[in-house]
Amino acid sequence: MKTLICIGECMVELAETGPGRYARGFAGDTFNAAWYARRALPDDWQVGYASCIGEDAISEEMTAFIEGEGISTRMLRRVPGRTVGLYMISLAEGERSFAYWRGQSAARLLADDADWLEGVLSQADHVHVSGITLAILAPDARARFLDALGAARRQGLGVSFDTNVRPRLWESEAATRAAMTAAAGVSDIVLPSFDEEEALFGDADPAATIARYAGAGARTVVVKNGPSPMLGWDGGDPVEIPVAPVEAVVDTTAAGDSFAGAFLAARLTGADLGQAMAQAATVAGRVIGAPGALVR
Ligand code: AMP
Repeated sequence: MKTLICIGECMVELAETGPGRYARGFAGDTFNAAWYARRALPDDWQVGYASCIGEDAISEEMTAFIEGEGISTRMLRRVPGRTVGLYMISLAEGERSFAYWRGQSAARLLADDADWLEGVLSQADHVHVSGITLAILAPDARARFLDALGAARRQGLGVSFDTNVRPRLWESEAATRAAMTAAAGVSDIVLPSFDEEEALFGDADPAATIARYAGAGARTVVVKNGPSPMLGWDGGDPVEIPVAPVEAVVDTTAAGDSFAGAFLAARLTGADLGQAMAQAATVAGRVIGAPGALVR
């Protein structure tokens, strides 16, 4: 049995279904990636989600949901006095807007217990983290987290990193750039989106994004670019793979998360770079053609 562990924050989602009425769900970038990886991986792979939650009823409901989706919750740490984060999706004339309550969420403490974190990493064959995983940590905790990842990687752990740049979650652009670069240095696979990298680093084109993350230490880089072709590199010549057009884009939520989950599943089970990119783009294309983060 092999184990993939995704680490980050899963939140309660309240999505407006009519004036003042909401449907409750659970989502979050690395959790979504775990969900898509679970669907794509064979049974000899276990998928787990590692994060911190509270000891309250909603934390238990989230745990039951994750478990019910076939994802192990053994690596969820319960923090007394904290609870899970929340976001609401409001609809105004068909446009979605998001509001977040996550500033004090339990997940912000996921690097505070070094023994727990080391235990999580020691149980994995591969771990997946994102720029949001890093953004929610205090600067000293972020540094400890990256150190722990680096140490585990030197022991043979595989690491993937979806850059997922969310400027509102970061204390400064300089801190964001430093963390992205440091994370690439402890990662085998880096999955950036070109528009975010262009805005943050001023990259001229996807090849420049690859060169920068390769220079930081990544071994595989796949630059996504919305409907434009993807550019991938794993040590040889860069591979360009086209993206099939999606006729009606309904909701782009989780495009990148589903891409990450499907890409990892393909790579972990032996697909070559181009095959894995094409499979991931097919899944992402289906996800943006339907509403919500988790498209069954
Ligand atoms: P992004 O992070 O926006 O670059 O998107 C991640 C992946 O989702 C892309 O590499 C595509 O595979 C897919 N995707 C995103 N937007 C579109 C679109 N408009 N049409 C088709 N595929 C898309």
